[in-house]
Amino acid sequence: MSVPSAFSLAGRCIVVTGANTGIGQGIAVAIARAGGTVIGVGRSAMDETAGKVADAGGSFVPANADLSDREASRSLIDGLWDKHGPVDGLVNNAGIIRRADAVEFTEADWDDVVDINLRSLFFLSQSYGRRLLAERRRGKIVNIASLLSFQGGMRVASYTASKHGALGITRILACEWAAKGINVNAVAPGYIITNNTEALRADAKRSAAILERIPAGRWGTPDDIGDATVFLLAPASDYMHGATIPVDGGWLAR
Ligand code: NAP
Repeated sequence: MSVPSAFSLAGRCIVVTGANTGIGQGIAVAIARAGGTVIGVGRSAMDETAGKVADAGGSFVPANADLSDREASRSLIDGLWDKHGPVDGLVNNAGIIRRADAVEFTEADWDDVVDINLRSLFFLSQSYGRRLLAERRRGKIVNIASLLSFQGGMRVASYTASKHGALGITRILACEWAAKGINVNAVAPGYIITNNTEALRADAKRSAAILERIPAGRWGTPDDIGDATVFLLAPASDYMHGATIPVDGGWLAR
């Protein structure tokens, strides 16, 4: 008889927000490689991710939702649970960034970013936690944080505030729910090649300066983040609560 791997997600159903591209797509594919089923939540078509998940031998269920719509977000997890069965994990990955000098930063750029990166992360976690507690089931939440959960950055005030907040919410939910069998942890990606960093990579000077500072000598890929997320969704991390793990090529170690 074979022993199940502590890193396997076989038989587990995981909700991933922002699954159409970038890190969310990498996470979806990594979950599929680990044997899990993915429910991808997003506001854009997720056909590319569905194809890559299928290539990895997994199943992908698209769920259309704009996370800036508070009403829709409120009932999202219950709706998915009722339709597809118990949800074993939630990955709060969807996020946006706006860049402007602090003196010129607008309220709209503050509200839009905090709304998706922090408010929706908390309230999706709340509705998932409520359901797990009501059903007396174990579950795992993985929040996608950032280097800017630890550092200040420049020209990204609302993003930095939201990502420091994501680290704090990861801790408080872990403290409240660890004894109930719910793991809440986060992954803090370094500089990863996605749409989010397109502007940075297009700026030759900034891009070279970033690369020069990364001990690993390369930008990260969505796969790098996907595999770390699988670890936090799998039984291997059952005794981890409230951690935010940098996956950054050594950036924060420097
Ligand atoms: P990305 O390629 O821009 O992807 C962001 C995802 O969030 C997309 O799927 C996007 O959907 C979704 N999203 C944004 N607003 C949404 C909304 N209102 N409703 C539903 N979905 C929404 O960026 P990424 O780099 O993969 O970012 C993923 C996460 O990693 C974010 O939380 C980001 O802050 C974090 N992160 C990224 C880096 C990096 O270097 N790339 C570093 C640290 C942390 P649409 O395509 O429809 O907009």
